[in-house]
Amino acid sequence: MSPDPVPAGLLVIGASQAGVQLAATVRERGFEGRVTLLGAERHPPYQRPPLSKKALQEGFTPESLHFRTASFYEDQRITLALGRRVVRIERGPRGSGVAWTDTDEAFAFDRLALTVGARPRRLPLPGAELAGVLTLRSLDDAAGLGKRLRDAERVVVVGGGFIGLEVAASARLLGREVAVVLADDRLMARAVGPLTSDLFLAAHHRRGVEVHLSSRPVRFVDDGAGAVRAVELEDGRVLPADLVVVGVGAAPRTEIAEAMGLTVANGIVVDERCLTSDGFTVAAGDCVQCPTPIGDRGPARVRFESVSTAIEQARIAAATLLGGTDTYRAVPWFWSDQDTLKLQVAGLPDDHDSTVVRGSAAEEKFSVLYYRGDALVAAECVNRPADFIAVRAALNAGLTIDAAGASDTATPLKSLRREVRVHPADGGAPG
Ligand SMILES: Cc1cc2nc3c(=O)[nH]c(=O)nc-3n(C[C@H](O)[C@H](O)[C@H](O)COP(=O)(O)OP(=O)(O)OC[C@H]3O[C@@H](n4cnc5c(N)ncnc54)[C@H](O)[C@@H]3O)c2cc1C
Repeated sequence: MSPDPVPAGLLVIGASQAGVQLAATVRERGFEGRVTLLGAERHPPYQRPPLSKKALQEGFTPESLHFRTASFYEDQRITLALGRRVVRIERGPRGSGVAWTDTDEAFAFDRLALTVGARPRRLPLPGAELAGVLTLRSLDDAAGLGKRLRDAERVVVVGGGFIGLEVAASARLLGREVAVVLADDRLMARAVGPLTSDLFLAAHHRRGVEVHLSSRPVRFVDDGAGAVRAVELEDGRVLPADLVVVGVGAAPRTEIAEAMGLTVANGIVVDERCLTSDGFTVAAGDCVQCPTPIGDRGPARVRFESVSTAIEQARIAAATLLGGTDTYRAVPWFWSDQDTLKLQVAGLPDDHDSTVVRGSAAEEKFSVLYYRGDALVAAECVNRPADFIAVRAALNAGLTIDAAGASDTATPLKSLRREVRVHPADGGAPG
């Protein structure tokens, strides 16, 4: 089903990366109707990536993180309705309805966009409610964490994904003793391959971070006054801690979509135009599960948590609302900064059958390129930004990078770009 162009009154629920982009894009594309950007947080929309990196290390003012100045929203006639959480939707005909907030206000809409993001997963362990056991998702979380970090001596990070490791690196840079505990047997296991995990393990060790792989916390230990003093592990070890940061991933916010009767499966299910199952409402960003954007490689449907995906999907969703036919095809990419390590990842390595390593893990400067047959499918680049740019450009253009020459760091990867050879057994060119 194809939605009609929005006649008037677009309501965007979730005022962050995807929501702001969506509102800005409908204006860029000439929409003249009312646009309301409604958000549960009281802050104007702001960037999350610095919260575990520079802002945590150096401190921040909320204003320094805002995406846009107040005059941008005024000029673009985007009404910001902040500090209001949508708790109920009354549905009308053809995608219209009324959104009710926890402040008992009603926002009528002709068309709705859901950009509600994700919430941090918590660990339902004894002591999880103790003072000093924190998660990090919002600006307010980061302000609270920053304050506690100033006084903490020993920090335990539970989880070995990007956010956990970024917090660990930041805390170490601030001179704290830091231990990372994770259930997996390697770092960032859901997002990068073993070679990159190994590089990061060695790099964090070199910086004085203790890493406990294949370890599960079973209890946060009370200091007797309601604050945490240690983390107890499954094998009986007890790691002292006056601050614990739980970074075990994020769960998509799907409650509004579920109440609306939209299809939900690890995220709000959308098609390649970011249209939900009702055929009118669009959704974008961390809350969304979408068809894989890079053809027939890897899993059929995916959910990404990255700035680039939120921006790209929001642009597509905006086009769809205005009757456009653009589809989400961009190669997914993201980055993570951990002290001096800049990791940049493009593509989906799930389906690879060979790898090429370029550079040196010991020097903390290397790239791993993933191939399926001749086709480049993904790359992880550590402190090699030119490699990342070349790989992303090749993937977006449907080209490959000649594997034979790729390990030679004297040869720029961009000079090795070429068409993918089609093997009959492969059933055609990669998507
Ligand atoms: C600490 C941290 C570091 C990160 N670093 C990186 C990085 O280095 N690189 C990278 O690519 N990505 C990074 N990310 C991920 C990136 O920030 C997210 O992918 C991006 O913010 C997703 O944007 P979004 O708009 O989909 O969701 P969100 O940013 O989660 O925003 C959703 C908004 O919707 C609001 N909302 C939810 N429900 C309701 C409701 N019922 N009513 C009203 N409002 C509601 C929420 O309060 C929230 O403000 C990081 C994330 C965090 C938390």
